[in-house]
Amino acid sequence: MGQRFSTDILVIGGGAAGLSAALHLAAHARVTVLCKGDVESASSHWAQGGIAAVTDPTDSLESHVQDTLTAGAGLCDADVVALTIHKAPEIIDQLVRWGVQFDSDDNEFHLTREGGHSHRRILHVADATGKAITQTLTEQVLDHPNVELFTDRVAIDLINLSKFGRHPNRCAGAYVLNRSTGHVEVFQARFVILATGGASKVYLYTSNPDSSTGDGIAMAWRAGCRIANMEFNQFHPTCLYHPHAKSFLISEAVRGEGGMLCLPSGERFMQRFDSRGELAPRDIVARAIDHEMKRLGLDCVYLDISHRPRAFIEAHCPTIAQRCADFGIDMANEPIPVVPAAHYTCGGVLIDKNGASDIPGLYAIGEVSCSGLHGANRLASNSLLECLVFGQIAANEILRKLDEPVADVSIPQWDESQVTDSDEDVIIAHNWEELRRFMWDYVGIVRTDKRLQRAQRRIDMLKQEVHEYYSHYRVSNDLIELRNLIHVAELIVRSALARRESRGLHYTLDHPEMLSRCEDTILFPGSMDHLDVLQPISNV
Ligand SMILES: Cc1cc2nc3c(=O)[nH]c(=O)nc-3n(C[C@H](O)[C@H](O)[C@H](O)COP(=O)(O)OP(=O)(O)OC[C@H]3O[C@@H](n4cnc5c(N)ncnc54)[C@H](O)[C@@H]3O)c2cc1C
Repeated sequence: MGQRFSTDILVIGGGAAGLSAALHLAAHARVTVLCKGDVESASSHWAQGGIAAVTDPTDSLESHVQDTLTAGAGLCDADVVALTIHKAPEIIDQLVRWGVQFDSDDNEFHLTREGGHSHRRILHVADATGKAITQTLTEQVLDHPNVELFTDRVAIDLINLSKFGRHPNRCAGAYVLNRSTGHVEVFQARFVILATGGASKVYLYTSNPDSSTGDGIAMAWRAGCRIANMEFNQFHPTCLYHPHAKSFLISEAVRGEGGMLCLPSGERFMQRFDSRGELAPRDIVARAIDHEMKRLGLDCVYLDISHRPRAFIEAHCPTIAQRCADFGIDMANEPIPVVPAAHYTCGGVLIDKNGASDIPGLYAIGEVSCSGLHGANRLASNSLLECLVFGQIAANEILRKLDEPVADVSIPQWDESQVTDSDEDVIIAHNWEELRRFMWDYVGIVRTDKRLQRAQRRIDMLKQEVHEYYSHYRVSNDLIELRNLIHVAELIVRSALARRESRGLHYTLDHPEMLSRCEDTILFPGSMDHLDVLQPISNV
């Protein structure tokens, strides 16, 4: 039988969003943080380029706001954009106070530039900014007497008090698989924060770590939250193309510092697609690469920064240079083979300006959420910023409500009386592989209605199989993730089918134009069987 734990605030996820929220809360409450694996299981750890903030007097908040709105293709919530970007300098100060040492020259931050930004405004720690931030936050969390960090824990489902007698709708914790013991534990809490990151593992090729299986989005959906804008999946244009590289990312900063995209012949091609060339927003660059690869039947294209001095490359991109060298590529001397890969989930659990979801007591922050910051396309290096801003905002909101009375309900143990150990784990592996492959083929960078419908039919079949499997067998990490990925895949396909236009990251050959009306795609729980109940909400 699994153990029971009780805390004031349960934070599910130990990336930038979860750890920063925990630190803001810890001075006033008991906080428990859960992660699937160690700190490296978070995308935050792998963030290379940096964090966007206006710190240079020749830059302006208005310009950062405008760049964000432009990237978002009309779908950003302007208030959320302004709020986030105005808070960015304060967030940087806080990170510095916590101990993050951003690269600087003569006491001024060294700022780099990325696609879609009209100014150099990306603060970074060489090309391993996420690692520096998450390590610092983790150290602070581990040192704090009010925070307990549990690794190797996989939240399975959220607990809603309304399931137990006549209690009001309120999130009161989660059932959690302890991967070491195999037991399901109960984590009961007065407030729950979902900070589980994105869902890019739903695609065959991704820059994300294995944990990005959309668990928080799927759990929130099953619990009754609205989910928004899931059709906007960002594909990073440049991941290292090598059979053993497991989609290692070549940061946008390489293009920012003059890297050129070339065909195998050495011909540059980005100018044919966009006057901003290599610094066009990611969706445009990814689509251009996809187009050239399909047109010429290429396995990859090349990113060439070999015209910059070796010392410059090794100082600015040490991790990337080392990783390339591991695979026999000397980036100071030759072009790097690159392909696009799924990178960022713009949609997610719909939240308000305080980070609150539709269920009282449940908050969602960071990549799991849809705050309105990114709209139809995320501007580079705005996501770590969003994690940290909403980590602080949600924490403050919870602290304001900390003294509110919450029903004291005894949560039952996880019921395993009807299940047995599986003797057919191969089904999980096969279904997992099948799902990720057809999502890549049919729901990828360029879409059509027919491909999306084809994907939906396959999802229906997998959903049925996995539901039966889930009902009969004991839960495992892979089964939990597969179930979540299938739910997320369905949310993506339904949202993509509902959008009858091309906008931002969603590009379909059947509706190539952008409509003049801007609408979010909002999926309501219980509405999946009827496309007509998808509620488009006007944003303008
Ligand atoms: C290679 C790469 C480079 C990037 N570069 C940049 C960059 O330069 N700048 C930028 O702004 N953004 C960048 N991003 C995006 C950015 O890193 C992420 O959007 C952001 O870090 C997400 O943070 P998060 O806290 O929301 O989630 P994550 O950092 O992904 O953390 C999620 C956490 O939730 C845990 N978790 C997940 N499911 C469960 C579950 N069921 N139970 C328990 N725990 C769970 C995981 O173990 C993990 O601890 C990059 C992303 C990648 C992958």
